Amino acid sequence: MIEDKNQERTPLSELGEFGLIDHLTKHFKISKESTVKGIGDDAAVLDFSDKKVVVTTDMLVEQVHFDLSYMPLKHLGYKSVMVNLSDVYAMNATATQITVSIAVSNRFPLEALEELYSGIQTAAEVYGVDLVGGDTTSSTSGLIISITALGDVDTESIVYRNGAKPNDLLVVTGDLGGAYMGLQVLEREKEVFKVNPQNQPDLEPYTYIVERQLKPEARKDIVTLLKELEVKPTSMIDISDGLSSEIIHLCKQSDVGIELYENKIPLDPQVISTCEEFNIDSTTVALNGGEDYELLFTISQEDFPKIKGNPNVTVIGFVKDKSQGMHLITRAEQAIPLKAQGWNSLEN
Ligand code: ADP
Ligand code: MG
Repeated sequence: MIEDKNQERTPLSELGEFGLIDHLTKHFKISKESTVKGIGDDAAVLDFSDKKVVVTTDMLVEQVHFDLSYMPLKHLGYKSVMVNLSDVYAMNATATQITVSIAVSNRFPLEALEELYSGIQTAAEVYGVDLVGGDTTSSTSGLIISITALGDVDTESIVYRNGAKPNDLLVVTGDLGGAYMGLQVLEREKEVFKVNPQNQPDLEPYTYIVERQLKPEARKDIVTLLKELEVKPTSMIDISDGLSSEIIHLCKQSDVGIELYENKIPLDPQVISTCEEFNIDSTTVALNGGEDYELLFTISQEDFPKIKGNPNVTVIGFVKDKSQGMHLITRAEQAIPLKAQGWNSLEN
């Protein structure tokens, strides 16, 4: 895990603040036309000409959002960017720039920050965004990362949370519950490791779900796909807290009700088998497990033929009138009111 005794450990104080910023950011290239000035002045300068700009920020705090005993710093850097880009894509926008601010205690050597930034750089390259600024400061305890992402979008393409209409279809990308079950596996291995550090975990049977937890991908491809299919969702949100709470957000903001079908919820076989092993209900995990970073959206029924049979998306429900409430229709055809539990409540 991270405390490899043989690794070089250069104290951050050796570089000083400006040396550190330069060292960490010098390999980042600027590729976006909208970036006029990146790192190095008092502020970045951007030019979006006639496009609308979306801005979103997320903060990740050690021991609250991540645990470095099983989260490699490179992955943490990558994931921190994904968490933010996912919000940009949920507006049906293209991500263009990020800023990265870190607060770090002297427990971290330079090499640790290099790892973090190598993950950030990979994400920036793969997703085509420019790093245009940030801030660097010290912290007395752990590591805090705050990323801001910017994106651009044509006015007529913006999708908000509040446009769902009765009779629309509820659609989700990918599959759900993997990130939460990956976390369960990693937490279990951490306990085993504490008891016997010689014990090397065999994560082979859990590759997919562990990857869903450690290296999630934001659904940039879906924004492209929707454009190609000429489908503009009526509402959209990204799934960071769990399907149930995100559906409730869409419904409340759109002033509609919903029927969600349990038998339609997409689950990977590895999620199902790991749920059996841990004796957890897979529907509960899909509804309340967090961090899947899939997109949840509604489309008008007219657009159904355009998405029909596409392996990236699954229709999981129908938008109803507000008066009909928000329900999960179980396999036994019972209607259960949806609750916003959020993944923390799964711990109880
Ligand atoms: P100021 O004192 O004006 O806030 P800084 O010395 O903090 O400026 O930052 C100098 C430049 O480096 C700015 O362009 C800033 O956005 C960038 N920067 C600072 N910290 C980071 C970081 N952790 N990651 C990326 N860019 C950073
Ligand atoms: Mg500063």
